[in-house]
Amino acid sequence: MHIGFLGLGNMGAPMARNLLKAGHRLSVFDPVPAAVAALVEAGAHAVDSAGAVATADVEVIVTMLPAAAQVKAVYLGDDGLLAHARPRVLLIDCSTIDPHSAREVAAAAEAQGNPMLDAPVSGGTGGAAAGTLTFMVGGSDADFARARPLLAAMGKNIVHCGGHGNGQAAKVANNLLLGISMIGVAEAMNLGVALGVDPQVLAGVINTSSGRCWSSDTYNPFPGVMDNVPAARGYSGGFGCDLMLKDLGLASEAARQARQPVILGALAQQLYQTFSAQGHGGLDFSAIINLYRKEPQA
Ligand code: NAD
Repeated sequence: MHIGFLGLGNMGAPMARNLLKAGHRLSVFDPVPAAVAALVEAGAHAVDSAGAVATADVEVIVTMLPAAAQVKAVYLGDDGLLAHARPRVLLIDCSTIDPHSAREVAAAAEAQGNPMLDAPVSGGTGGAAAGTLTFMVGGSDADFARARPLLAAMGKNIVHCGGHGNGQAAKVANNLLLGISMIGVAEAMNLGVALGVDPQVLAGVINTSSGRCWSSDTYNPFPGVMDNVPAARGYSGGFGCDLMLKDLGLASEAARQARQPVILGALAQQLYQTFSAQGHGGLDFSAIINLYRKEPQA
């Protein structure tokens, strides 16, 4: 299949590589020349604008962009995808944005005969490289069925969450919980250690008891408890505090529109914002544990 791909950053580049590995032809665009050059070396064809991706003879276009502002510019702009896409070309936006913007762009796409799916991902850069991402997909049954084999080249769990914007809704709900649970684990680990329990013993108890969660058993924030997590390497790499802050902002805005309280989410957002304002926004989000530590490690 000939696929257009826009947004070759930390996530988009490895995802595009997996599409090439699966035998697809790719026409790619990113404003960063080095990002394009790396994909061309891997076998992709470079084009020089979003509009040029749409006018190439592609059947599907995938976007993996930073935030809603870029998604709206790329899809709705004068030289954007919708201005040039041929009818029936399937549009798949994998960026993490608010459900409202996802629905707005999908409505514009479908009004001119282009089916669209929102398909944000979970699994980070490691999952993108390994092709094991989870895709949370919003859109029609037929379009989901059409996209599924292609998404399966980049991910392991492909979940249809309902109509337009529901993929983003599932993603913001998940990351709201992740942001809160990481702070909960940080608080509990520090309390137990301050009371005299060895951190590994404490993590072992939590991970076989009712407090267990992904933040405790797969991504524990306390240094020395686990290997191969950001806490074991000064909180470098991983999922940045500022990205978590962005996702909690999306959750809080979506909650405002739905008149739905997110009380712990708002508190979590303020804690990550405090930590980011202290200059730590680039550290992995599990570094939030340093807000609780008397001798922060980072
Ligand atoms: P990134 O900043 O590394 O990559 C974004 C890319 O989009 C950049 O290469 C940028 O040059 C490109 N871009 C910007 N404007 C463009 C345009 N007009 N046309 C084409 N390309 C354009 O970000 P990322 O880490 O790859 O994240 C992408 C999305 O995935 C974000 O919405 C993020 O929230 C989400 N996400 C990230 C992770 C992660 O661990 N990094 C995990 C899950 C979801």
